[in-house]
Amino acid sequence: MDTKYIFVTGGVVSSLGKGIISASIGRLLQARGYKVTIQKFDPYINIDPGTLNPYEHGECYVTDDGFETDLDLGHYERFTGIHTTRNNSITTGRIYKTVIDRERRGDYLGKTIQVVPHITDEIKRRMLRESDNSASGNSCVPEEQLDFVITEVGGTIGDIESAPFMEAIRQLRWQLGRNAVSVHLTYVPYLKAADELKTKPTQHSVKELQGMGIQPDILVLRTERHLDDHIRMKVASFCNVDLECVVQSEDMPSIYEVPVNMQKQGLDAAILRKIGIPVGETPEMKAWHDFLDKQRNAKREVHIGLVGKYDLQDAYKSIRESLNLAGIYNAVKARLHFVNSEEITQENVAEKLDGLAGIVICPGFGTRGIEGKIIAAEYTRTHDIPTFGICLGMQMMVIEFARNVLGYKDANSREMDEKTPHNVIDIMEGQKSITQMGGTMRLGAYDCELKEGSRVAEAYSNSQLSISERHRHRYEFNNAFKEEYESKGMKCVGINPAANLVEIVEIPEKRWYIGTQFHPEYSSTVLNPHPLFMSFIKACAQ
Ligand code: GLN
Repeated sequence: MDTKYIFVTGGVVSSLGKGIISASIGRLLQARGYKVTIQKFDPYINIDPGTLNPYEHGECYVTDDGFETDLDLGHYERFTGIHTTRNNSITTGRIYKTVIDRERRGDYLGKTIQVVPHITDEIKRRMLRESDNSASGNSCVPEEQLDFVITEVGGTIGDIESAPFMEAIRQLRWQLGRNAVSVHLTYVPYLKAADELKTKPTQHSVKELQGMGIQPDILVLRTERHLDDHIRMKVASFCNVDLECVVQSEDMPSIYEVPVNMQKQGLDAAILRKIGIPVGETPEMKAWHDFLDKQRNAKREVHIGLVGKYDLQDAYKSIRESLNLAGIYNAVKARLHFVNSEEITQENVAEKLDGLAGIVICPGFGTRGIEGKIIAAEYTRTHDIPTFGICLGMQMMVIEFARNVLGYKDANSREMDEKTPHNVIDIMEGQKSITQMGGTMRLGAYDCELKEGSRVAEAYSNSQLSISERHRHRYEFNNAFKEEYESKGMKCVGINPAANLVEIVEIPEKRWYIGTQFHPEYSSTVLNPHPLFMSFIKACAQ
C-alpha cells in the first residue's frame, strides 16, 4: 500500500488538543494493523524547543535519538508506543536553516530563493519524510515503509507564520489526491446567556482554510456540551463536509478516553473511506479498554508532591502522565500536588510536605529553587518518605547527602557554584568546551548497567540488567566521591558502561529513595508504564 498522509490543523483557538486527536488517530489506525508515525510542524523560528523556557512552551520532550522536541511528541509516544525521532519534530527555523545552508553551499547557484517554492518544497519534503537529495543533503534519515504519516501543524489557522505550511498542505493534497486527508479541529462554544451552542466560529475557520485552498475532509468539533445532529448537520452543510465526517470531541474525564470516543463516532472509518480503503470490522482494542477499566476503578487516592519551580501543568507533563499511568496500574488514583521549591524552608518543610505519600524532585536548570529541593530531599530521607529524584532532582539528592551525611556543608553542583571544593556534581568532560547552547547537552538514549540485587534492578524485575534510558543534562555525579557515598549508604546502582557515568543512586535501607540522572518519564506509555514509576507508586501506596 502507498503511504497515506493525514494533515491535522486547528482553528478558532489554540489548546484544543490537536496533539491528543492526532495521537488518537494514530492509535486507532494502529489498532487496524497499520504502521503509523505522527509528526509535529511548529511555526516558530527556534530550531527546536530545547532553549525555550517551560513557561513559553511547556516541557521539552526528548527522543531516543537525542532531539529536543515539542511535548506533543510525548502524547504520540504514550498513545501509540512508537519511538519518534528528530524527523518527527520540525520548526520553521529548521526549514529555513536547511534552505539557507543549501544556499550558502551554492546548491541553488543563480536562483532567487523564495518562500514559494523553496521553503514550501522543503516543508513538503519533510511532510513526505523523503530523504534530502540535494548535493549536500543528509537531514532526513530514510526509513522503513509507513502506511500512514499523520502531520499535525501547530498554531491556529490564519496565523501569518503558519501560511507556508498551509500552502505546502494545499500542494500536497493536489499532488497526492486520495492519498491525503485533511482533518480540521475547531471549537463550538456554548453561550450561557443565550443557552446556545455557536457554530459560526467553525464556519469562519473553515472559510479561512478554504481561502488557502484547503477543503477539510473531516471536522472534529471540540465542545464542552453534547452537540445534537441538528448542529452537526448545520456544520456539514455550511462547510461542504459529509455529515458522517463531522465528529464531536466532548470534554472527557481523561485524555485516554479520547481514542475510544473517536472510534465510536467513526473517525478512523471516515478517514479510511475518504482514502478509499475498505473499512472492515471495528477493532476491539482490548488492551486499551482494559486500561480504561482500570482507570475508572482506581478510586483510592495517593497524594504525590511534585517539588519543582514551574507552577504550570505542562512543565512536567511527562512526569505527571507517568505518575498517573503508574497509579492506574497500581489500582490507585495518583493525586498530584505542586510544591513550589522556592517557597520551601527548614521551618515550613514539614507543613509543605504534610500528607504526601511520596515526592518527585523534578528536573530543571539553574539555581532558582534548588535549596528548597535540597531541604525537601533531607526531610523525606530522614522521615523515610518515598522519594524519586529525576535529573536535577537526583543531583539535589546527591548534594543533600554530601552536606548532611558526608559533612561537606559547601557541597554543590558546578552548575550552581563554580568554586566549591566539594563539587559532588560536576560538569561532564565532554561539556567543558561547549559554548553553543542549542542541542549540545548529553541528549537521548544511553545504555545503563544495573547492579544486581539493587532496588532498581528489582524495580526493572531483574529481567534485564542492561537498560537504555533518555538523557538531557550537562552535569553528572563526580566519581571522585563515589566510595565515600557508598560507604555511607548511598549506592551507585546504575552505570553507563561506555563513560563510567553514574546514572542511578539509591539508599537501599530506605523505603524508596532513588535518583536517576536520566528521564524515565519520556518512555512511559499507556500500555507500558515505566517500571520505576510503577515501583515508586507501589511504595507510595503501601
Ligand atoms: N541542570 C542539570 C544538568 O544540566 C539537570 C538537567 C535536567 O534536570 N534536565 O545536568
